[in-house]
Amino acid sequence: MSGILYVVATPIGNLEDMTYRAVRILQEVALIAAEDTRHSRKLLDHYAIKTSLISYHEHNEEQRAAQLIGKLQAGESLALISDAGTPCIADPGYRLVSQCRRVGIQVAAVPGPSALIAALSISGLPTDAFRFVGFLPAKAHGRQQMLTQFKDEQQTVAFYEAPHRLQSALRDIVEICGGDRQLAVARELTKRHEELFSGTAAEAVEYYAGKRVKGELVLLLSPAPKRTPEGSVKEALARLHAETDLRWKEIVKQVAKEFGLPGSEVYKESLKLRD
Ligand code: SAM
Repeated sequence: MSGILYVVATPIGNLEDMTYRAVRILQEVALIAAEDTRHSRKLLDHYAIKTSLISYHEHNEEQRAAQLIGKLQAGESLALISDAGTPCIADPGYRLVSQCRRVGIQVAAVPGPSALIAALSISGLPTDAFRFVGFLPAKAHGRQQMLTQFKDEQQTVAFYEAPHRLQSALRDIVEICGGDRQLAVARELTKRHEELFSGTAAEAVEYYAGKRVKGELVLLLSPAPKRTPEGSVKEALARLHAETDLRWKEIVKQVAKEFGLPGSEVYKESLKLRD
C-alpha cells in the first residue's frame, strides 16, 4: 500500500491561520517536503511539530520528486508545504503532484490560506468568474503584452506582483487598459500592515506615487466595461459581408457575440439581407 501525499496550505502571514487538520497531518506524516526548510521550521516550532523536513524547491524538483515518490511507494505518507499559502499556486509542487497522479499515489488536499483567494474575497470586485495569471512578467515589454490581453477581459484578473514593480505596473495599466478601470491592491494580507487599496487605475497611480511600497501584494483588475457595438445588427452583418471573406455562418456568429444576442435572432436578420 502506498502512502498519501498531503498538499498542506500554511499561513500567508498570520500564524493563527493554520487549520487544526493541517497541524495534525504535519505531526503524523513521516516527512515534510518544504520549499525552504529553515523558513518552515519556524512555523513547525510554533506548533511544536517535530516531523523532519526535506527541501523541495524549483531547483531540485525533478530529482527530489523521484525520491519522494519512492518513499510514498514504500508506504510512507508525506506532506508538501511551501513558504506561505497553498503549494502549487505560483509555488513548487506541480511536478510531484502530477507524478503521484500518474503512478496512482493518492494526493489529498489540506486546504487553507492562499493570497489569491484572500485578496479576491475582500476586494469588492466581481468574483463569480476570475482569471489568475500568477506573477506579471518582470520586464516592461512582457508585462505590457500581457496587459494588452486583459484590455477587454470580462472577468476579474488577479496577478501577483513584486512591490518595487507596482508603480510601473499601475502606469502600464492606465496606459493600456485606461485610467478609469477599477482595481484593487491587497498588500500584506493577515499581517500588521495589511492594506487594501481600491479605486480606479489613475487613482492608484496617484496614491502610490513617491511611496516606497513594501511587503507582498496581489493586484486585481476589474472586468472591462462592456463595449456597446456601433450601428444596427443589419449594418454589422452587411459590413462584415462586404469587408471579409467570412462565410455567413461565421458572420452571424461574430455579430451575435458582439451584440450579445442569440444566434437564431441574428441568423433571421441575415436571411433578410441575403434575400
Ligand atoms: N502559494 C502562495 C499562495 O497560495 O498564496 C503564493 C506564493 S507566491 C510565490 C508569493 C506571492 O503571493 C507574493 O509575491 C505575493 O504576490 C503573494 N502573497 C503572499 N502572501 C501575501 C500576503 N500576505 N499579502 C499579499 N500578497 C501575498
